[in-house]
Amino acid sequence: MARYIFITGGVVSSLGKGLASAALGALLQARGFSVRLRKLDPYLNVDPGTMSPFEHGEVFVTDDGAETDLDLGHYERFTGVAARKTDSVSSGRIYSNVLEKERRGDYLGKTIQVIPHVTNEIKDFIEIGSDEVDFMLCEIGGTVGDIEGLPFFEAIRQFSQDKPRGQCIFMHLTLLPYIKASGELKTKPTQHSVKELRSIGIAPDILVCRSEGPIPVKEREKLALFCNVRPDSVIAAQDLGTIYDAPLAYHREGLDQAVLDAFQISPAPKPDLRKWEDVSDRIHNAEGEVNVAIVGKYTQLEDAYKSIAEALTHGGMANRVKVRVEWVDAELFDREDPAPHLSGFNAILVPGGFGERGTEGKIKAAEFARTRKVPYLGICLGMQMAVIEAARHTANLTDAGSEEFDHEAGKKRFTPVVYHLKEWVQGNHKVERKVEDDKGGTMRLGAYDAVLTQGSKVAEVYGNTLIDERHRHRYEVDIKYREKLEEVGMCFSGMSPDGRLPEIVEWTDHPWFIGVQFHPELKSKPFDPHPLFKDFVRAAKEVSRLV
Ligand code: GLN
Repeated sequence: MARYIFITGGVVSSLGKGLASAALGALLQARGFSVRLRKLDPYLNVDPGTMSPFEHGEVFVTDDGAETDLDLGHYERFTGVAARKTDSVSSGRIYSNVLEKERRGDYLGKTIQVIPHVTNEIKDFIEIGSDEVDFMLCEIGGTVGDIEGLPFFEAIRQFSQDKPRGQCIFMHLTLLPYIKASGELKTKPTQHSVKELRSIGIAPDILVCRSEGPIPVKEREKLALFCNVRPDSVIAAQDLGTIYDAPLAYHREGLDQAVLDAFQISPAPKPDLRKWEDVSDRIHNAEGEVNVAIVGKYTQLEDAYKSIAEALTHGGMANRVKVRVEWVDAELFDREDPAPHLSGFNAILVPGGFGERGTEGKIKAAEFARTRKVPYLGICLGMQMAVIEAARHTANLTDAGSEEFDHEAGKKRFTPVVYHLKEWVQGNHKVERKVEDDKGGTMRLGAYDAVLTQGSKVAEVYGNTLIDERHRHRYEVDIKYREKLEEVGMCFSGMSPDGRLPEIVEWTDHPWFIGVQFHPELKSKPFDPHPLFKDFVRAAKEVSRLV
């Protein structure tokens, strides 16, 4: 039976609860425990699949096809435990389950209420898989005091009462603002936040306080006294230069020890932190730098491409170089020649995306990379654009395009080299979709196998000819054009096992030009960089040596 750690936040949002949870998960693993992390989000969307990346950042896709919050990406990157559908839930999902049960008559005519029906649904979710791990870490999204968060706080309060004593603890993250004029760290907002938490029946066992600098003893004692926690359970979370220092930093601050003490686990198993020491060493002792341009649409909000940025960092760590990323708005190339903007880079990455805006710019970026022999990694839409570029400029299909853009414009303008996929095979099942299906859940989502061509670049990169990677898309490169494109040198080097869906393309006469229909970035880890990112950065490093 798992022990539960509930992680809540107060004072302000964006304190790095996800990161603190992920780092704690990694530290518990370092002490030999198995962990699982999950996120409970109070918003009313059923899942983040339909939320704008501008607003909510990237959608993290799991192997089993769930579209989840980007915090699950942190969890997976830090613990290496593959996130699952049952690791993420929102109020929207909880309410829709409750209402579905009500319609089915499962509640036998009872009046349906937040307590107990909604809270029970939340508790059932928390309980899923509890016999599989030593620790279940549950992060509650939002900030204590938010109206929509209340059912979740009530549910975790009840949950801790339902369990035997000592099986659940609460960890609360807050902010200690620094007032320059008086040179003081202020504890009052934290006191109020804990008061708010206690008013709904939750007494935190551990306080994690974000602050610019160290917490002086006086403030630490004050926090302990006024918030009713032990002084050694007040953990400072100082701003860090890199997120990958978080496990070691939290360990130095005594977070994992405080957690084990709170559970009265004694003697505590000694931690083995060598993995994180190596990660930290690779980040801090890079021996050079490569410059990568990411030509995308959601460039104002870095979180929109969170996993890509992290995977590039991992690729850099594997090659002992720092990867400097510059975000280039693809729409710029609608007006301007890409050459002066892209010339200074050692590699170009075109990420995934939806909708027509910016796609002509991405096509130009792919053309620039192909003709100038600059390493290119096209991910999902970035692969589709590379294929359209090849079709238009090398295979004489001058009006090649994607059905996605024709659908958007409501008229037919392109030869659909990329078409709307309505039927495909997943394992032993056939999946079917209609154009009019609702926006959520009409995509090819989650892990699918791909078979790689022996002797191809990707087979060499992966060191394997059978892979599985995560997908999230509606459109697909049409196999009809394979022959035409292979004639001009674009090799379809990865295919779905039934041979119908192109998964990977590469230019054979190019030092490094690969387009993939899936999202390799989602599986990269600092201690286990994804082979494509590792080799992409290696290729960029080679280019940087030449210039
Ligand atoms: N919009 C494209 C599709 O749906 C690509 C999606 C993506 O890049 N994730 O196929």
